[in-house]
Amino acid sequence: METWSREFQEHGHQLTQVLELADMVVVNSCAVTAEAVRKSRKAMHRAHNRNPEAKLVVTGCYASLDPVTTAQDMGVDMVIGNQDKDRLVEIVSRELELKSMPQLATEPGVNSLLARGRQRAFVKVQDGCRYNCTFCIVTLARGEERSRPIADVADEINKLHSEGIQEAVLTGVHIGGYGNDLGITLTELIQTLLKQTSIPRLRIGAIEPWDLPKQFWSLFDNPRFMPHLHLPLQSGSDTILRRMARRCKKDEFAQLVASARTRIPNFNITTDVIVGFPGEGEQEWHESLEFIQQTGFGHLHIFAFSPRTGTLAAEMPRRVDRDTMRQRSQELHDLGMQMKRDTLLQNLGHSCEVLIEGQEECSDHGSAVWAGYTPNFLRVKVPYAAGDDLDNRIVTVKLEAIGAEGTTLLGRIIKE
Ligand code: SF4
Repeated sequence: METWSREFQEHGHQLTQVLELADMVVVNSCAVTAEAVRKSRKAMHRAHNRNPEAKLVVTGCYASLDPVTTAQDMGVDMVIGNQDKDRLVEIVSRELELKSMPQLATEPGVNSLLARGRQRAFVKVQDGCRYNCTFCIVTLARGEERSRPIADVADEINKLHSEGIQEAVLTGVHIGGYGNDLGITLTELIQTLLKQTSIPRLRIGAIEPWDLPKQFWSLFDNPRFMPHLHLPLQSGSDTILRRMARRCKKDEFAQLVASARTRIPNFNITTDVIVGFPGEGEQEWHESLEFIQQTGFGHLHIFAFSPRTGTLAAEMPRRVDRDTMRQRSQELHDLGMQMKRDTLLQNLGHSCEVLIEGQEECSDHGSAVWAGYTPNFLRVKVPYAAGDDLDNRIVTVKLEAIGAEGTTLLGRIIKE
């Protein structure tokens, strides 16, 4: 269930503790005893009664033993057998047409590539956005831009560091707008934080590409500022970007990426792409796909377009049909996997510092391993040695291979 939570967030969904607010509920059923069956059925019925609008997905042993009866139960939209549990998020996102476009394009709950943990904390530095991208509800929901004073942010980071946090991720709805209301800039914020805190790692979550000032790249000369940026592209077609009211054309995006890569070694760029924006024709789609491929990204967050009431895009004609949307998402997903593998390949042979975030089972090693992230945010697994406690430690690792699933690096610790 932890994995599903993470994957749902990676698909742009948010978790809620409030049943009535959910767009979808997953019940992981059990059949080990009659009591377990009774409780599983009770959970399904409670979910349906308290939120009949939500899609109800039932999985686990009870549902797998008798999928037909489960499917006929009141309110159940989909049964996922145990054999498909590993693909639950992928299947339900595809089949149930969940609202899967980021509601708040740059907030950590959405940009959950950077998951929160005991080692990493999000520090919100601003709220609101002055732009009006036609698909985005933020301007309506969050209003004017407001920034936190630098001293406040520094205090929070120092406190987190004293509690054992090793990495702070600066976030905001539109972080590039930081400081407009205070007469300071994001660059000044980061420069000051690097001076006034000693947290080993500082990152920014996501930033709109047109917001990056020229001197921004020099911040990465400080090894405590991590060489990874999530730059939302949304589309690689200029005509779609115009309909989205984005401020960065694809050539400008390409120039930014090129200057970052020239200036900063092993710089990792990840992005968001919306598939099936209204009117996205074959030619625009192929243009977009080609641009994404040429640019190369370490990770793609793919969102199927879903209209948000109150936005301009919700009123736009020529909606893309569901099958085309599915097919394009799949094509982009395959490209994303290939590009991720290429990024990992480019990093092989390097040695770098890895923040160890915990242990997990690893099919490549056939045993437990330590896992963590490189500065440029690539996941790395290193062999576990009994008696070692590397949790929340930063160790130097030689990156030696790619895991079988093609999404993780395998390494060897060369310095603890
Ligand atoms: S820049 Fe556009 S996508 Fe980002 S928060 Fe503002 S309106 Fe939304």
